[in-house]
Amino acid sequence: MRYGFVIDQNRCIGCHACTVACKEEHQVPLGVFRTWVKYVEKGEYPHTSRHFGVMRCNHCDSAPCVTICPTQALYRRSDGIIDFDNQRCIGCKSCMQACPYDALYIDPNNNTAAKCNFCAHRVEANLEPACVIVCPTQAILAGDLDDPSSKVARTVVTQNVSVRKPEKGTEPKLYYVGIERDLLRPARLSRQNGYAFADRHDQPPHHAKTARVGDRDHHRPANAGFDPSVTREVYDVAHPAPWGWKIAAYLWTKSIAAGVMMVAAIVMAGTGRPSMRSLSLASPMIALAALAITMALLVFDLKRPDRFYYLLTKPNFRSWLVIGAYILMAFGALCVVWLLYAAFSSTVPDGVLLLTALLGAASACYSAFLFAQAKGRDFWQSKWIFCWQLLMQALVAGSATLIIGMVIVDPTMPYVLGPIPSVLFMSLVLGLLALLLELVIPQRSQDAKRAQKTLLEGELSRRFWFSAVGLGLVAPISLFLFSHPDPLALAVGAVLVLYGLLWFEFLWVKAGQSVPLS
Ligand code: SF4
Repeated sequence: MRYGFVIDQNRCIGCHACTVACKEEHQVPLGVFRTWVKYVEKGEYPHTSRHFGVMRCNHCDSAPCVTICPTQALYRRSDGIIDFDNQRCIGCKSCMQACPYDALYIDPNNNTAAKCNFCAHRVEANLEPACVIVCPTQAILAGDLDDPSSKVARTVVTQNVSVRKPEKGTEPKLYYVGIERDLLRPARLSRQNGYAFADRHDQPPHHAKTARVGDRDHHRPANAGFDPSVTREVYDVAHPAPWGWKIAAYLWTKSIAAGVMMVAAIVMAGTGRPSMRSLSLASPMIALAALAITMALLVFDLKRPDRFYYLLTKPNFRSWLVIGAYILMAFGALCVVWLLYAAFSSTVPDGVLLLTALLGAASACYSAFLFAQAKGRDFWQSKWIFCWQLLMQALVAGSATLIIGMVIVDPTMPYVLGPIPSVLFMSLVLGLLALLLELVIPQRSQDAKRAQKTLLEGELSRRFWFSAVGLGLVAPISLFLFSHPDPLALAVGAVLVLYGLLWFEFLWVKAGQSVPLS
């Protein structure tokens, strides 16, 4: 049995009855939606047309939200419905990143994820979903796609149907008849600051912009300056970006924790260890502090931080959130072992150095695989390049942190620990090369190209080129080349590196989410 929907847009009149019935059936709060009607317009007056698209969960046969959900709160039922259990949800929002269709939201009443669940409670009582019952034109069909006699199966076989973003490989079970093609490809839509009869949640109110006398825009309509050849979005619901500064800061502190131990292991394995006592003591302490902040950021980014331990008690081992949590815990345990050896023995064994360095690398890199599980975000899909970038970022952050620490404690130490500035320089150069590679290799999809453009030429570009690349990469490399071995210049370079890296993480997270999914 495989339950699915067919929505006939030729029949849809855009009345929103399905939205209202769904809200009533599931007590969906204000401002969020399990199903909604999106409006677009084409052409120029008087030759204009308006088109509707009823949007909701596609109950994908290969659902990325189920794969990424760390606590199995999202799951596929035996009848093909993708359902959720809000008692297990920790509010990590990763499902919202994984879903390419904007189908999920955070319920403001209980801070857990929610979406269309095919009215599973009604299906179990042999009733049709509320939206099907209420639709005045029978535009929505629901039924078993595996049953050849069902209306949905017959429609899928006999009519020209389409699905949203088939290239994502999610195998959606929501089929459209007669839908305007641009509604299936949100990257092609032109967006306005305001709608014909609603303000956009993420924009200043349209009337606030046009109310001032003398303002040049005073008489400008909301969709002024539109290109008539492009399909325009004229009504949608809000889809705020799920991840913000806490995720960027988590990437940053994690780089510091992982990098400090990797750099310390490299230096201690490559030089005489007895002279390294302060390094062997300080590095696990710094790493453990950075790791504690990393964990705190992760927990406080959850909408349900009180449930953070569900990662361990209800784990989905296919989710990189869970795998990452175990990697971070193992890494933390090895930092403690290292610290105990450094405190109570004259040397840290080779095995501990090697294992800590390997787990440091794993801690740095696993986020590339987590971000790649966010199937909705094309910009994050180059996991191997991102993995390399994260590794270099960890070496950069670790060596910069150690340099700052050494200069504060004893400015002559950089000469004693000469390899650390060299690690910093080499990883900066390799990181720059990885970045150039990422930017030079053509992006695979329109969405990824658009996100890249936002970063390189759009609203994020000034910060990207000035703070992340200029101050964070080029300036420190120049300082290293022209003022080495001046400890003060090294320390300034190290501070710039960490500053630039924080901006880089922030902008990278933001750019990935800058492309609308629906
Ligand atoms: Fe629904 Fe999105 Fe999950 Fe697909 S990925 S099952 S559309 S929530």
